[in-house]
Amino acid sequence: MDKLKSKEIWFVTGSQHLYGPKTLKQVASDSSKIAAALDKSPKVSQKVVFKPVLTTPDSIFELCSAANNNKNCIGLITWMHTFSPAKMWIKGLSVLNKPFLHFHTQLNRDIPWETIDMDFMNLNQSAHGDREFGFIGTRMRLNRKVVVGHYQDADAIDRIAVWIRAAAAYNDALNMKVARFGDNMRDVAVTEGNKVSAQMKMGYSVYGYGIGDLVKAVNDVSPAAIKKLLSEYGSDYKMTKAVANSDTLKEAARIEIGMESFLKAGNLKAFTTTFEDLHGLKQLPGLAVQRLMAKGYGFGAEGDWKTAALVRSMKVMANGLKGGTSFMEDYTYHFDPKGMKVLGAHMLEVCPSIALGKPAVEVHQLSIGGKADPARLVFKTAPGKGINVSVIDLGSRFRMIVNDVEVVKCPDMPKLPVASVLWKPMPDLKTGAAAWILAGGAHHTGFSTAVDYEYLEDFAGMLGIEFVHINDKCNIAGFRKELRWNEVFYHISDGI
Ligand code: MN
Repeated sequence: MDKLKSKEIWFVTGSQHLYGPKTLKQVASDSSKIAAALDKSPKVSQKVVFKPVLTTPDSIFELCSAANNNKNCIGLITWMHTFSPAKMWIKGLSVLNKPFLHFHTQLNRDIPWETIDMDFMNLNQSAHGDREFGFIGTRMRLNRKVVVGHYQDADAIDRIAVWIRAAAAYNDALNMKVARFGDNMRDVAVTEGNKVSAQMKMGYSVYGYGIGDLVKAVNDVSPAAIKKLLSEYGSDYKMTKAVANSDTLKEAARIEIGMESFLKAGNLKAFTTTFEDLHGLKQLPGLAVQRLMAKGYGFGAEGDWKTAALVRSMKVMANGLKGGTSFMEDYTYHFDPKGMKVLGAHMLEVCPSIALGKPAVEVHQLSIGGKADPARLVFKTAPGKGINVSVIDLGSRFRMIVNDVEVVKCPDMPKLPVASVLWKPMPDLKTGAAAWILAGGAHHTGFSTAVDYEYLEDFAGMLGIEFVHINDKCNIAGFRKELRWNEVFYHISDGI
């Protein structure tokens, strides 16, 4: 995963020549002050770079072209300090292919009632200058985030910080290769999709590999490398002596090393497996998948490449934040009228970044797949806020569905040795699950306690895919209407 502060957000200010050189000098000085303040904020995960004030159509076009061709630039923050006639922006914005955020701010927080004069008015014009710029964004139907507030306002900085993390995930998605070891689980519909459309819309490319290629990498692993990894397991996790000395754990370590070297060699950022295609592997990769997810790889089970890519993107957004992010599946319900909940888990593949405390490595039988008993990490998740996210292919477009959830304490389940999470979906299980099902959301999700819906909403906007949010205010009648209206909007939106 790219290090934090390794990419740039360009801070771009608009003005015009009418104000004269003295005012423009002041505009540049004020803008660089705001850019520097954002850059220094500990909440902001990338560099914020001040760019010279733009006053002509040609300079705007040149800046946008330079941003397009700069590998480190992952987005623009625009601000119209003074009035910048927006026809000047048409040529530049029409070629810009990086995301942008319109920061509707002002250098002065308060109006200085006693001293305010025309000079002050000339220098604090974004209240109308930004409206002119906003019009051209709307007139050109451009996606962007609008954040309003003084540049030292903590809430405004939070909104910007979220968007910058989404921009990092967008940049990562454009450079993402997803490996599929085996095909989709036979007959399953929701994990399918059009890989050409996905690449056109979401950037990433999906590569299929024969399981034999992976088996070769696994068989090539040296005994010394396995020994070294086993001692790492010993310090990272709880386990019995029998597990520590088992051939199963050695085999799990072999699979992990082989998988990681395969993924690294191919510069692959996410992957899928399927229990229907494991020929040559002695066990379904469990521990290996869990640990690779913890290192930042995206994962989807049963050939689910859309979820694998989504989990990777969510991990990029969450880089360095508190909480964790994992592949997840809605497994079974607790329908007690006193508190309805969902138990989330998977056969094996849940990421220990969401673990509460030190996970345990255990070896148990798996009643599916017909392979040897696999090793897996077993743990629970700390109570708190979280989200479940799904991306589905509706044929003519992709839809992202986000459900806010509240993770609650999970009772002991001595006979269910898997990693699991217990949550209450918003606004309640009956409404949340009905809305999810009406929207077509999958049983597989990207689950996170590190990022909330806003990151995903910003990200979906950059991808240009549909976004629906099931939150504490969701009601089914309104949600059904939203889905119907979206059908109309997305069928014609390319043409308006
Ligand atoms: Mn599954």
